[in-house]
Amino acid sequence: MKQLYEKVGAIHIHSVFSDGSGHYDEIIRGASEVGLEFLLFSDHWTLEPKRHNWEGFHYGVLVGIGVELNDNEQRNHLLAFEIDDEIERGLDAVEYTRRVVDSGGWAVVAHPDERRTELPEFPAYPWTTWESEKFQGIEIWNHLSEWMERLTRRNKYWLYLNPRRSVIEPTLWTLKKWDELNLKRRVVGIGGVDAHAHHYPIWQNVNATIFPYKVAFRSIHVHVLLEQLPEMQDADAALSQLFKALRAGRLYISNRYVGQAKGFRFWAEDTETVTEYQMGDRIKAGSMLIFRSILPDDASHAYIIKDSVPVYKWRGGEGNFASDEPGVYRVEVRRKRRAFIYSNPIVIEADS
Ligand SMILES: [Zn+2]
Ligand SMILES: [Zn+2]
Repeated sequence: MKQLYEKVGAIHIHSVFSDGSGHYDEIIRGASEVGLEFLLFSDHWTLEPKRHNWEGFHYGVLVGIGVELNDNEQRNHLLAFEIDDEIERGLDAVEYTRRVVDSGGWAVVAHPDERRTELPEFPAYPWTTWESEKFQGIEIWNHLSEWMERLTRRNKYWLYLNPRRSVIEPTLWTLKKWDELNLKRRVVGIGGVDAHAHHYPIWQNVNATIFPYKVAFRSIHVHVLLEQLPEMQDADAALSQLFKALRAGRLYISNRYVGQAKGFRFWAEDTETVTEYQMGDRIKAGSMLIFRSILPDDASHAYIIKDSVPVYKWRGGEGNFASDEPGVYRVEVRRKRRAFIYSNPIVIEADS
């Protein structure tokens, strides 16, 4: 197994620069205190924090700044990273996705499958523009969306106070969509916390902070595997290293509330040519691969999923599965009746 350098962070953060309640300084400090190594902010529409020099290392945390875009109907939210200029408002999703990608940015569909809840104060904002073929990533797991989906009139105050309990698993619809997209091209799966720390009135003038940032930062994590030793001196170099790995799909997603996932691995070996492939790789049909995965602990059980169907199951330690059939292969790990880890896929491409 090739040596890779693992960095753990959180993606999709809002601050006072748009509709979040937290200031950059306190948010980053909070992330640092819970051990996160990078944070990707995505305030709605604005790159203002970039102009305030918030990009780079602060409190030992590498900070990257993008935006979240939406259309006139408030739908089709898109996270856009590695862009230098703001995107104008009033465009449709196909067009703003194209502009982000054509200007060299990394475009990630946010909460694609957000569903209506019974509470009118939390409407749903799904992605509907699947005809766009430009986006390079999709948020397969969004803490805020899942929390909202599970809200009812009866449990809402309990869930306001226990936000991490609502995080159980992504929707099957999203996972299936993600697998289908990967049959055709690489679409990287990420997890987002969508942290805002909204203050919400629960009784007369008593306000609860929904998801204080530090609580949100102990839920959905993104673990990036870097090929080279992480750059710690030069923030620009560190960010381009981070985005290179993210764009390549060398990452997995975990729920920190369920356990410590660090050390999880998923890779594939072609024993004939002695080649090792990583998450995100796409391999031409014709070779026999051994898919290998190491779990972080013995209490977890895992599945190798091929084209949305579990094909191999094991508990603890290492799992191996050989196949030469074209398809989208990835690993799902569960623990304590909750989803724990989602790898990005390794794809054997069909002959076309
Ligand atoms: Zn959104
Ligand atoms: Zn958001």
